[in-house]
Amino acid sequence: MLLRQPTSVTEAQECMAEGAVPVGGATLVWALWQRDGFPEQAMSLRRLPQATAIGPGVLGGAVLLHQVDDRVPEVLRRAAGSVGTGAVRRTATVGGNLVGSSLRCLLPAALVLDARATVLGPDRAYETDLAEVLAKRHLLLDLRWPTPLASGYRKQPAEAGGPPPLVVATAVHADEAGRRRLRVAVRDGYDVLVGNVPCHEGPGRALDALRRTDIGSLPAGARNVVGREVTATLERPGGGGPRGATPGPAGGRRG
Ligand SMILES: Cc1cc2nc3c(=O)[nH]c(=O)nc-3n(C[C@H](O)[C@H](O)[C@H](O)COP(=O)(O)OP(=O)(O)OC[C@H]3O[C@@H](n4cnc5c(N)ncnc54)[C@H](O)[C@@H]3O)c2cc1C
Repeated sequence: MLLRQPTSVTEAQECMAEGAVPVGGATLVWALWQRDGFPEQAMSLRRLPQATAIGPGVLGGAVLLHQVDDRVPEVLRRAAGSVGTGAVRRTATVGGNLVGSSLRCLLPAALVLDARATVLGPDRAYETDLAEVLAKRHLLLDLRWPTPLASGYRKQPAEAGGPPPLVVATAVHADEAGRRRLRVAVRDGYDVLVGNVPCHEGPGRALDALRRTDIGSLPAGARNVVGREVTATLERPGGGGPRGATPGPAGGRRG
């Protein structure tokens, strides 16, 4: 197998056109390749600057999970820190997790950040939504999102060999009128449900509104976890305080 490591988007396009298969840390594909045979060519994005970027509002597809630190919002940092073992996180990538894994612990975090993806199409790189990335298994170059006012992430403890643990991700954003909105994403089994409600009137009203979204269809135990996470996020600096009345910080990096 020839491992290609493009250093520009144009070079990556050439690799793709020549049939190179994307590879991150190979934590999932290695066993498959050993069983089914190696592809002729694979392509790692680890030398492509756009795919290794990490900072406020951007996370590259080739960034290793253990490199996801406080340059990104708490929800994304904690999601990356919850994946597998230290050994997996030192090898696995953002793109491999979002596009290539079935658990996708990063997905609820990316959804509440309202993240957009930059992907590489056959003739250009372009921006699209996460649903399209997952459905078409696009080559992910990076994720970009508007800075949230506050965010949070909770992954319930997993039972060995059991079903995927419940994940609840939350983020508070300011809308165009400057009012706070809460986005919640819940991974229940392999399904991910999303709710997007106003939260400037505090946790009670926000939770009432969430019950009328897909989140309301969750079992009672999961809804209790959502309730606690929403309350905790809204009480963080930037989240609005217990009644949603405390103004958040005016600028800078938050969440
Ligand atoms: C022991 C163990 C525990 C784990 N626990 C968790 C967990 O708790 N939560 C969780 O979410 N996941 C978990 N995983 C899965 C883990 O997230 C994946 O192994 C990892 O994210 C895959 O990343 P990788 O970079 O190694 O991908 P690879 O194995 O290199 O690739 C996997 C797939 O993704 C594709 N791919 C890679 N990069 C890109 C890209 N930039 N754009 C598009 N497609 C791409 C590849 O073509 C391939 O099809 C666990 C895995 C292991 C081995």
